Amino acid sequence: AKYDGRNRSVVFRPAMRTEVEQRVELLREVRLAISQGEFDLFYQPVVDLAGNSVAGFEALMRWNHPEQGVLPPAAFMAAFEDNDLSLQLGEVAFERALGQMRAWLDQGVEFGRVAINISSAQFRTGRLAAEIAAKLARWNVPADRLTIEVTENVYMGWGAEVVSDTVKQLHDAGVLIALDDFGTGYASLANLRQFPIDRLKIDKSFVQNSQDDAIVRAVINLGSSMGMKVVAEGVERPDQVATLTQYGCDQVQGYHFARPMPAAEVAGFIDAFSTR
Ligand code: C2E
Ligand code: CA
Ligand code: CA
Ligand code: CA
Repeated sequence: AKYDGRNRSVVFRPAMRTEVEQRVELLREVRLAISQGEFDLFYQPVVDLAGNSVAGFEALMRWNHPEQGVLPPAAFMAAFEDNDLSLQLGEVAFERALGQMRAWLDQGVEFGRVAINISSAQFRTGRLAAEIAAKLARWNVPADRLTIEVTENVYMGWGAEVVSDTVKQLHDAGVLIALDDFGTGYASLANLRQFPIDRLKIDKSFVQNSQDDAIVRAVINLGSSMGMKVVAEGVERPDQVATLTQYGCDQVQGYHFARPMPAAEVAGFIDAFSTR
């Protein structure tokens, strides 16, 4: 029993576990699951509209939960917000992605580029550029096979200078830099001019709401005029493809083409796409 400060005692039953307790429990389970190799990546194709071809894939983390099956990041978001665990998940992402890319290169699978999402904790170490260079060398994967996705809040948050130095080094090495979820944070293109950005990803909330068509068109024009390729996320319907093509969008990604898939399905998807 606990005292609630108003002269009554309150009994906490297990069902009333606080959010804090649930979070601690989740983080404990994730830590164990990492050590047991239960995290892996799914891959979602990015389609080039002009070439009508597969430009690459975005790598997205999944938890192969022994009881609950394949879980998306929404089920373990707290882990990405925890400094130590997001670093560990970042390690898993690079090891899995680079190992997979090495295998595809050996098998002659034309996967294009793989994009990996980076959290702010990974930038804060100050070692990210050197670590990525070392990993690429160890797996013998060329830098021009890799894209990193960074949200605008990472750029605008703590240590913008470390972030900018890191992305400059990676960009100079041949890694593409994509600005993720553009339009949902508090940066403007003017703020971002100081960073090398090769790809602008329009958040799916704009793509999916037809009232935001003017925003989508403006972002495509701005990005193009600044020399970036523009990628639209969350494309679910043919009419969205038509609108984006008409606006001059470069690349598209979404359930209309494919949901994120296990690595084993990627070669088959590429074959089917090129002969469809
Ligand atoms: P994100 O980077 O914006 O990734 C795109 C999300 O949109 C993915 O969700 C993808 O499955 C989903 N998506 C793709 N096409 C469609 C569509 O047509 N309709 C709808 N409704 N959704 C679509 P997912 O895989 O659940 O990942 C959620 C977020 O988790 C990602 O958002 C990213 O912020 C984070 N995340 C995933 N993997 C990693 C990782 O390895 N590292 C880090 N730091 N974050 C990751
Ligand atoms: Ca992303
Ligand atoms: Ca995104
Ligand atoms: Ca997002």
